[in-house]
Amino acid sequence: MPTTCVVGILWGDEGKGKVIDYLAADTDFVVRFGGGHNAGHTLVLPTGKLVLHLIPSGIVHAHTVNVIGNGVVVDPVHLCGEIDKLRQRGLRVDLGRNLLLSERAHVIVDAHRRQDQWAEGLRGSGKIGTTGRGIGPAYADRCARIGLRLGDLIRPDRLRAALHGLALQKNAWFAPAGLPALDVEAMFGELAAAGERLRPGIVDAGAVLRDAHAAGKRILLEGAQGCLLDVEQGTYPFVTSSHASTGGAFSGTGLPPHPMRTVGIAKAYATRVGEGPFPTELKDELGNRLRIAGNEFGSTTGRPRRCGWFDTVAVRYSGAVSGVGELVLTNLDVLRGFPLQLCTAYRMPDGSSTTALPAFDLEAVQPQLVELPGFTEDLREVRRFEALPANARAYVQAIERHTGLPIRTVSVGPERQQVILR
Ligand code: GDP
Repeated sequence: MPTTCVVGILWGDEGKGKVIDYLAADTDFVVRFGGGHNAGHTLVLPTGKLVLHLIPSGIVHAHTVNVIGNGVVVDPVHLCGEIDKLRQRGLRVDLGRNLLLSERAHVIVDAHRRQDQWAEGLRGSGKIGTTGRGIGPAYADRCARIGLRLGDLIRPDRLRAALHGLALQKNAWFAPAGLPALDVEAMFGELAAAGERLRPGIVDAGAVLRDAHAAGKRILLEGAQGCLLDVEQGTYPFVTSSHASTGGAFSGTGLPPHPMRTVGIAKAYATRVGEGPFPTELKDELGNRLRIAGNEFGSTTGRPRRCGWFDTVAVRYSGAVSGVGELVLTNLDVLRGFPLQLCTAYRMPDGSSTTALPAFDLEAVQPQLVELPGFTEDLREVRRFEALPANARAYVQAIERHTGLPIRTVSVGPERQQVILR
């Protein structure tokens, strides 16, 4: 199948960047379909580490066209900065050639950032743990039909009119909320300047992708965050504001629904950053050890990630929602020297047991764990599945059995070549 969709199976940070980098070598187009610069994909290249926030990971491959789809919300000032940084690293970023930006993608402005931080402050102990970068308010304005789109930035009359419309809505409540009013002229200057810089890349990306699909081109759809952060299918309200599961791959690009290979990226254990229920979380010393062994600190914010056991209930749910046909298991090397446990069911507050992910009261379930023997060997140089220690193989096979999903790729280190194909 010429289209592949890659999604994170839990709450993000599963190592999608490395897997997409690996798959992009054989791809014509790499397309981001959701999220904003709250995402962070880490690539470890021969020239060193590279963290991408908005630009698709295919940018490091000379032949790949990278597309920021209409489902992404774009902070144009951040995007200009990210382009500059990549160019300083010697990478080719050629707007209109190897980087296309959907004219329909919505724009994040300063007011969104302020609104985001203000709303999170009001939530107090009920905070969601957002990155405070204005992503949620930009999506909210899209639904409220007062948003700006990238195509507006290169149409001065439309931009000014759209900014006046936005200011009218926001300024009606910003002042009582203690937020500074929107200054339309200052915003116009900044956004129009960013629009001029980005102009060669702002195109009808959906049309380009539909043509590419019709011509049989290989398209890689790059999910941001993870299925359990999907605004509708995830652990609401502790979710992001976009459709992070496979459903978003069509609405967020303009491609028509069509059969594709869908790959779910799962870490060999579970992590979550920010607030929200996490049934298999380890709040003890073992969780700390796992965080340090896996260097589980956010690539965008540096926040420590919460760590826990692999959760086959949650993975099965996400796999079903996203139509995942196979898993890539990352970070298996990190589990060296750890006892191994897998969550295979949840005990509900009423004492019953379930293997289905509940939409409510996930914070009240108890994980039912099975223990497996651990391994002490260093896996980072292993390149064949049969060469893995027997206990590591048994762990991978137990995950396959409990999730019902085949694992054809196992990652045993951050570098490109640290991968085992079965
Ligand atoms: P993403 O948002 O899903 O791309 O995940 P991040 O890039 O934020 O986090 C994944 C981290 O794990 C990065 O630092 C990667 O370099 C690293 N990584 C990816 N695969 C492996 C692996 O198999 N083993 C180890 N030890 N690290 C990995």
